[in-house]
Amino acid sequence: MANLTHHNFTPNTLALHAGYEYDSQRTLSVPIYQSSAYNFENLAQAKARFGLEELGNIYSRLTNPTIDILAKRLAAVEDGAFGTITASGGAAIFYALVNLAQNGDNIAFSNKIYGGTQTLIVHTLKRFGIEGRVFDIDDLSSLEKVIDSKTKAIFFESLSNPQISIPDIEVITRIAKKSGIVTICDNTVATPILFRPFDFGIDISVHSLTKYINGHGSGLGGAIIEREGLNDLIKGNPRYEAFNTPDESYHGLVYASLPLPIFSIRIITEWLRNIGATLSPQNAWIHLQGLETLELRIKQHSDNALKVAQFLESHPKVTQVDYPALESNPYHKLLKKYFVGGLSSGLLSFEAQSYEAAQQICNTLELFSITANIGDSKSLVIHPYSTTHSQLSEAELKSSGITPNTIRLSVGLESASDLIADLKKAIEK
Ligand code: PLP
Repeated sequence: MANLTHHNFTPNTLALHAGYEYDSQRTLSVPIYQSSAYNFENLAQAKARFGLEELGNIYSRLTNPTIDILAKRLAAVEDGAFGTITASGGAAIFYALVNLAQNGDNIAFSNKIYGGTQTLIVHTLKRFGIEGRVFDIDDLSSLEKVIDSKTKAIFFESLSNPQISIPDIEVITRIAKKSGIVTICDNTVATPILFRPFDFGIDISVHSLTKYINGHGSGLGGAIIEREGLNDLIKGNPRYEAFNTPDESYHGLVYASLPLPIFSIRIITEWLRNIGATLSPQNAWIHLQGLETLELRIKQHSDNALKVAQFLESHPKVTQVDYPALESNPYHKLLKKYFVGGLSSGLLSFEAQSYEAAQQICNTLELFSITANIGDSKSLVIHPYSTTHSQLSEAELKSSGITPNTIRLSVGLESASDLIADLKKAIEK
């Protein structure tokens, strides 16, 4: 499909078509280019590609045509300028952060994020000399207090896992703009269908494709999407020296001098090239299949989750339900302000009456599988305190709102009535 620019079509239509122009075989399904490397026409072309004078494939650790189509399609769906694909969401987050921060720098991060990302920022990046500074999304004056001249990124989730909370995003982007700091939003749970990061001044969106975009629990993947015009924030900004001074590892190249989306190009030339958390072409194809039905599925996940949340809210043995589409939820107003159709995705958390009750509910459920994943078409359940968030300290758990009684559900695409019956049986056992 030629000339499909993201300004002409809805995200749903783009999810089916964008980024793919038929090759000589004109296969309707995107081909899987199963090749580790690429033939150069001659050495002059090889030299030009290595020197970034000509863009094109060199080696599949950096780029691959199937992966490229996925990157272009996702960027179009989210209305971004450029997309880069990684082997997992974790790798996407790591690369996006270290593309901005190095030894001696710090990153401001939200108190309500996925436990794995919190561990990455607080512990792994610390070993690289990068400090993580937490801010409270329910009191954004705390963000202004933690940022300084060495703050290289502000990181948060649009819809957080597992607390399902929503920050006042425009307040965050206003604070970031005042100081010329790049904002990174993990848009995994919301997906580009429910939350449009670049409409609210966010600079970079990251995704675990493993979740709703894949949609069937059949493969890992990650993506980093940058907004149109991000170069203007980075070029000449003293905060981002690495982009504005010669890169010794690249023959003295100054990224800011390139007429390209420099944040993403450096993800490829520095991080994918030198570390190589690269997706396989088969997994790119699997994610392309998932993306085709993303809008259909996320609407149904949201519809089912609301019905489940309403049931749980009315149950006397459930002490709290965290799901922003419920009118009683403290984030309901922010959901209406920021999210397409006021839909809240398929993730919800609730509080059982005790740790023992939480264990018993998880172990009794039949349709909800005990699984450390989200966004599958099948319903999943986990006890974050003892699993996904078990590496957090008691203080971190308290700050992120996770208790021994918290149960997280990833509501799937089964009939809502069956899911409610399964929950009722487990809670009342
Ligand atoms: N971001 C969020 C919100 C997640 O829930 C996860 C995984 O659970 C990740 C990132 C990490 O993604 P992956 O498992 O694809 O590495």
